[in-house]
Amino acid sequence: MKILCILYDDPKGGMPSKYALDDLPKLDKYPDGMTLPSPKAIDFIPGELLGCVSGELGLRKFLEDAGHTLVVTSDKDGDGCQADKELVDADVVISQPFFPYYLTREKMETAPNLKMAITAGIGSDHVDLQAAMDRKVDVVEVTFCNSRSVAEHIVMQILSLVRDYHNQHRIINEGGWNIADAVQRSYDLEGMHVGTVAAGRIGLDALRKLKHFDVHMHYFDRHKLPDEVEKELNLTFHESVESMVKVCDVVTINCPLHPETEHMFNDELIGKMKRGAYIVNTARGKICDKDAIARALESGQLSGYAGDVWFPQPAPNDHVWRTMPHHGMTPHTSGTSLSAQARYAAGVREILECFFDGSPIRDPYLIVQNGELAGMGAHSYSKGTATGGSEEAAKYKKNN
Ligand code: NDP
Repeated sequence: MKILCILYDDPKGGMPSKYALDDLPKLDKYPDGMTLPSPKAIDFIPGELLGCVSGELGLRKFLEDAGHTLVVTSDKDGDGCQADKELVDADVVISQPFFPYYLTREKMETAPNLKMAITAGIGSDHVDLQAAMDRKVDVVEVTFCNSRSVAEHIVMQILSLVRDYHNQHRIINEGGWNIADAVQRSYDLEGMHVGTVAAGRIGLDALRKLKHFDVHMHYFDRHKLPDEVEKELNLTFHESVESMVKVCDVVTINCPLHPETEHMFNDELIGKMKRGAYIVNTARGKICDKDAIARALESGQLSGYAGDVWFPQPAPNDHVWRTMPHHGMTPHTSGTSLSAQARYAAGVREILECFFDGSPIRDPYLIVQNGELAGMGAHSYSKGTATGGSEEAAKYKKNN
């Protein structure tokens, strides 16, 4: 079989010869008891770069020993890109949300052999899920592999925004010491009202981590959490996102992108937020209307916006979030720390082992199977596609 793997570029200076840490902490289980990815073997060193082209998700030996063909590329956008050329006879396509290969209906139609799209990470909105259902292409992802990595990023970015870390760091890098400049937008998080849109794996973990900052915590989700969890964290449940954002100083967005959540944060909803609130969005860029966010930062309706997700990705060089005031954006990195890479590389290997053996893939990993939303997909997604506009990713030009 032919496996096409789209990964981000190698470091500009080449693959590291030495890493900052010698090993990774050992984790056994996720907090809800789910086991970590458990392939029969791995051919990589956990803690090394696996998500870039030369890292190959540690798959080459495994695939080639079994007689399969592995093609890895980062050339994924624009007419005539290598990924499109290789897709036409691929059986399996693997892509990471950080550097997504937008698998639109048109692209799928060029690939008659395609049986499965694997997301090396979480969030399969870069695949036209409706087209996958129509064409019986299964879609799977490595549920939980990086949820807690993202929750750490959320806490980091909430603190950075509220305390105005970026501004203070810039002042010191520029040789300055004006304390008044450094603190004129700096507050304590303590006592604030913090709410999450969705309390799934990431949202709930972020709440658990934030509890220790003595904040008031709120959530909005399609399903209520068990009473004992609400009690443990002293959570206020909201039946609508409007009701929650009205009372929150900080809102963190943690739902998947699907037609129901696309552009949820538009001028109207942002207009209902408390003046001066902060948003941290590590879910998907398209859940927010990008221009509405920039307008709200300009007017002061929002005091800060951070996150790591953009639309499309890579973000075009003139994407307004690169230059709007009071932002704390990173590239899409929260779920691809070296720690997370080791988990999702192992998860992809586990999925491929099941696929080749004809044994069942874990239910929580399923998004689409046999033409229907399945597993996690049936629980968390709605039918349709959120890939519209993804061709804009071809506009990104590498600076050097
Ligand atoms: P989960 O599936 O555990 O949680 C998703 C939650 O979103 C569920 O509780 C679901 O609710 C809820 N939800 C779905 N639709 C809506 C809606 N319309 N309104 C409110 N809530 C909704 O996934 P994770 O927490 O692990 O991941 C969430 C998302 O975060 C991913 O889909 C992905 O887009 C993003 N992500 C980003 C990463 C990054 O690197 N920045 C890495 C990993 C994920 P219910 O189940 O109750 O219906």
